[in-house]
Amino acid sequence: MSQSPPTALVTGANRGLGLETARQLAARGYRVLSASRDPRGEADRWTLDVTDARSIAALAERLTRENLRLDVLVNNAGISMKGFDAEVVRRTLAVNLYGAIAVTDALVPSVRDGGAIVMVSSGMGELSAFAPALRARFLDAGLTRAALIDLVRSFESAVEKGRHVAEGWPASAYRVSKAGINAWARLLARELAPRRIRVNAVCPGWVRTDMGGDAAPRSVDAGAASIVWAATYDGGSGQPTGGFFRDGHAIPW
Ligand code: NDP
Repeated sequence: MSQSPPTALVTGANRGLGLETARQLAARGYRVLSASRDPRGEADRWTLDVTDARSIAALAERLTRENLRLDVLVNNAGISMKGFDAEVVRRTLAVNLYGAIAVTDALVPSVRDGGAIVMVSSGMGELSAFAPALRARFLDAGLTRAALIDLVRSFESAVEKGRHVAEGWPASAYRVSKAGINAWARLLARELAPRRIRVNAVCPGWVRTDMGGDAAPRSVDAGAASIVWAATYDGGSGQPTGGFFRDGHAIPW
C-alpha cells in the first residue's frame, strides 16, 4: 500500500531562503507546494501575492478543491526596504506582518492537526530594540489579535506624526514587522494548541540572499536548515511551540 508523502507549502519560494527551504523539504520526502508571485515551470508552482486578498483566497480555494492537507506551512515571503518613512512602514508591514497573518488565517483550515507552521522571522525583531513599555505590551501573555494590531497601528501612526522615537519604537519598519510576527507566532501557538499544531518563529541568521547581500556570513543552505528544523522537528510529545529559534536553539524575544 503506498502512502502519500507529507505536504509542505512555502511562500516566497522562487528564490533565496524560500527556494532552498523548498529544496530541503523535498529532499526529506515532502511534496512541496512552492508559492510565489510569479510561478514558472513545473507542477506544484502556486501563485501567491501575500498582500493580495484575492490571491490568498484563490490559493486557499485551490487547496480545498484539490483536497490537499498541509503538514507544514512556511511563511517565508518577506521584504526589507531601504529608507524609513510612513510608506516604507506601510509596505513592509503589508508583506512581513499583515500578509503573513492573512495567509496563515486562510490556510489554517487546510493544515492537518499535529502539523507545523513556521514564521520566518529575524533576530532584528528582538525586543531589546524597543522601549520597556512597548516590550511589555508585545510580551503580554494575554495579547489578543486586536491588541497586537492596535499596537502595530500605533507604530504606523507614530511614524506619520514623527513621534516614533519619542514613543520608544526603533526607526525600522523591518524590526517592528518581525517583532509583530513573533508576537503573532506566540498567540497563534496558543490558539492552535487544541489542534496540536506547532507554531514557531525562526531566525535563519544573516544569509547571503538578495536580501542579505554578499557580505552575509551564512550560506543559504545553513539559513534554510534553521527553518527546516522547525518545520520538521519531531521530538515526540515534548515538541516546542510558541518559541523563537535559530539553528534549533531558543533565542530571546
Ligand atoms: P529574498 O529577498 O531573497 O527573497 C524574498 C522572497 O519573498 C522572494 O521569493 C519574494 O518574491 C518574496 N516576496 C516578497 N514580497 C512578496 C509578496 N508580496 N508576495 C509573495 N512573495 C513575496 O529574501 P530572503 O530569502 O533572504 O528572505 C526570506 C525570509 O527570510 C524573509 O522573511 C526575511 O525577512 C527573512 N530573513 C532573511 C535574512 C537574510 O539575511 N537573508 C535574515 C533574517 C530573516 P519575488 O521574487 O516575487 O519578489
